[in-house]
Amino acid sequence: MSTAEPANLSATQFGPQFDCVIVGGGLAGGLIALALHRARPAMRIALVEAGRTIGGNHRWSWFESDLSGEGQALLAGFRKTEWNDGYDVVFPDYRRQLATAYRSMASADFHEGLVRALPEEALYLGRKAISLDTHGVDLAAPEFGEPERLEARCVIDCRSFAPSRHLRGGWQVFLGRHIRLDKPHGLTRPLIMDASVDQLAPHGNGGAYRFVYVLPLGVHDVFVEDTYYADDPDLDRSALSGRIDQYANAQGWHEGQIVGHEAGVLPVLTGGDFSAYLDSVRTPGVAIAGARGGFTHPLTSYTMCVAVENALAVAREADLTGEQLAAMFESRARRHWRRTAYYRLLARMLFLAAKPEKRVEVFQRFYRLKRGLIERFYAARSGLFDKLRVLAGRPPVPVPAAIAAMFKRGAPLKQEARNQIPMEN
Ligand SMILES: Cc1cc2nc3c(=O)[nH]c(=O)nc-3n(C[C@H](O)[C@H](O)[C@H](O)COP(=O)(O)OP(=O)(O)OC[C@H]3O[C@@H](n4cnc5c(N)ncnc54)[C@H](O)[C@@H]3O)c2cc1C
Repeated sequence: MSTAEPANLSATQFGPQFDCVIVGGGLAGGLIALALHRARPAMRIALVEAGRTIGGNHRWSWFESDLSGEGQALLAGFRKTEWNDGYDVVFPDYRRQLATAYRSMASADFHEGLVRALPEEALYLGRKAISLDTHGVDLAAPEFGEPERLEARCVIDCRSFAPSRHLRGGWQVFLGRHIRLDKPHGLTRPLIMDASVDQLAPHGNGGAYRFVYVLPLGVHDVFVEDTYYADDPDLDRSALSGRIDQYANAQGWHEGQIVGHEAGVLPVLTGGDFSAYLDSVRTPGVAIAGARGGFTHPLTSYTMCVAVENALAVAREADLTGEQLAAMFESRARRHWRRTAYYRLLARMLFLAAKPEKRVEVFQRFYRLKRGLIERFYAARSGLFDKLRVLAGRPPVPVPAAIAAMFKRGAPLKQEARNQIPMEN
């Protein structure tokens, strides 16, 4: 059968309808679809997303140094904001400018870029997968229609991560607001961490590592996000919103309109039983990519650099069967888990050795280190010397607590909080 033939031929007569069905049109699924289509335009792919748009409601940011040249090329077609003059960080004891270039993309621009780049027939938006197996995906009936099965040579599961009792850690909780001001704000660079603010937990009881993240998106546009490294996943929207008001007012950003919001409750991993976790999410013969497959930076919860690398890997191995791709992704996930053990150790230092209101000292000390080391840290590519350097010298946490933290595992991740962002399956 020629690849130019219609994609809806009967599976039994002509082989599967699709070469690859990707379930979950978030960052990971969207990038895999793009990389596959660019590498192999004749491949019949489907991107199944339960929401009406690809990418949900996020703003993804990353350092240019996080990505390889090939990775940067994959993202080249998306509209994004680019800062080439580096970024600032502010701590109680000092302020520093780092020269690393920074990038940010709104999910609306991710959606638009993918709708432009992918064939119309590849997009199954507003369609929820109800079951997956190695030969295809069953979709729930749309509002005016019938349930449907998409047969495929391979299926990739990029559905959302759901916190699991097999994984342990704390939380990164944040609320961001995009404001369009009446007057120019005057900023030229992102302020990645303004940790000079009160170190109060999101719910106001006790402490947390708190910082404000500020992105100048345009002359009048600024994105302000209030972020916490907290022990529990409570997202108190009205308290965080009040703190954003307070911060914006202190900068003189009174007049303007709110363009949008984002909110997140992301796990910061301190440990866990990764094999048991994989057993709990695996569908035999189906590759798992994205945050659900464990492809996150344990300490920052960011996924951009690993999502890009995974997408490029799928494109390189586009001819594998579903089973082969599932095995490849399982070994990538296990390798990623092993490679990132060091960041889980640092997360244990942060959550288990430092008092919540003193966590700021861990970051304050870290940001005094060399720029290259900081870049490799964010890209989860720290070398042995980097790892030793971060731990060397007078620790920012009490030594007995640091030693004890090395042997603890942290609290199981679980969802019991009020005002939780719903997690989709
Ligand atoms: C607000 C926010 C901001 C973030 N900012 C950054 C950042 O700046 N940089 C960074 O690197 N990381 C960031 N992250 C962390 C991480 O990169 C994101 O969570 C990223 O979106 C994870 O991508 P994913 O594709 O693995 O999962 P998701 O984004 O969760 O995508 C999964 C998709 O699957 C869909 N889905 C679920 N179930 C089904 C089903 N049954 N059928 C069909 N579709 C289904 C969902 O609707 C969703 O669109 C942020 C996270 C949040 C929440």
